[in-house]
Amino acid sequence: MSGWWFAISLLLAGCSVSEPNRQATFSGIAFFSISWQVRVSNLPANVNAQQLQTELQQALDDVNKTLSTYQPDTELMRFNAGPIDQCLPVSKVLGETVSKALLLSEKTQGRYDITVGPLVNLWGFGPQARPEKTPTASAIAEARKQTGWQSLQVDTSNACITKHKAVALDASSLGEGVGVQALASVLARHGIDQYLISVAGVSQARGKRPDGLLWRVAIESADGGGRPALAIALDNAVISTSGSYRNYYELDGVRYSHTIDPLTGQPITHKGVSVTVVSKTLDAILVDAWATALNVLGPKEGLQLAEQEGLAAYFIEKTADGFVTHHSGESAQFLPTE
Ligand code: ADP
Ligand code: MG
Repeated sequence: MSGWWFAISLLLAGCSVSEPNRQATFSGIAFFSISWQVRVSNLPANVNAQQLQTELQQALDDVNKTLSTYQPDTELMRFNAGPIDQCLPVSKVLGETVSKALLLSEKTQGRYDITVGPLVNLWGFGPQARPEKTPTASAIAEARKQTGWQSLQVDTSNACITKHKAVALDASSLGEGVGVQALASVLARHGIDQYLISVAGVSQARGKRPDGLLWRVAIESADGGGRPALAIALDNAVISTSGSYRNYYELDGVRYSHTIDPLTGQPITHKGVSVTVVSKTLDAILVDAWATALNVLGPKEGLQLAEQEGLAAYFIEKTADGFVTHHSGESAQFLPTE
């Protein structure tokens, strides 16, 4: 993140309450780089806004201390450095995150894989520096050997995880969802039940806006061409968008996305630019992971799996004739009818 953006973000951090109905806004920076926001329709009279702002930020900082790959001393990094073939004790958050990731690996036959980190780093999207050249086939083969969700085993009763080979976790694809869930727990603790939470591309809505209408979240138009974005009304639902348009780089005229297809060990090559998943039943962690998983699969295979799973998914694809959209049958209920 560039310095000026960080400076602006800090200015945006804070909270405000407007009387008499006590509608309130809270915001800040999560994971050192992304913005979060919570809007509450009616803050209970006994809740101090400044105190709540601190608790919300703390909840996200705790998630960062658990899951980040950008600091060596997080729980996840300690797990990564830990021995193989031993059930290593993990916190509830890490255990839940890995369990949900493994569920999606099963459903996507490994195209979604929380152990994809070595490939992400090799392509320059992790904590390490960008490559000046695309990785060689042997470097890709080497990194692929260090991946494999099948070598992870979660023991929920003993709250521990075993890795049967030296794989490393990379929770970047569902960390925002974990953050949203952590914020929702803070709000629940205070009896707040009318809110919209957003952590970067993941949002969760509960109840109604102060004006009594449903909360709305815009799907960013992926072409960056200023086309009007689609507004999705959320009736107690979670939404997540995963895209190749925000995080990519160009090398010798080719665009490389931060989404890696474990099948090839390379960034995705399909023409899907973004996937949005909306759900009234799945939690924020799963919805976030699903958006990434469907982004790996792309508009064709991803749409098929979404139909099979009864998921509401909305794809934007770049074709020779411009941007086209595809959506699963389940999405119709969320799309605006005009
Ligand atoms: P964003 O939050 O920018 O929309 P995502 O939620 O889709 O992005 O997460 C992208 C991140 O997920 C990548 O930066 C990488 O760390 C990780 N990742 C990349 N490919 C995969 C994959 N096949 N399975 C799981 N995680 C992946
Ligand atoms: Mg994701």
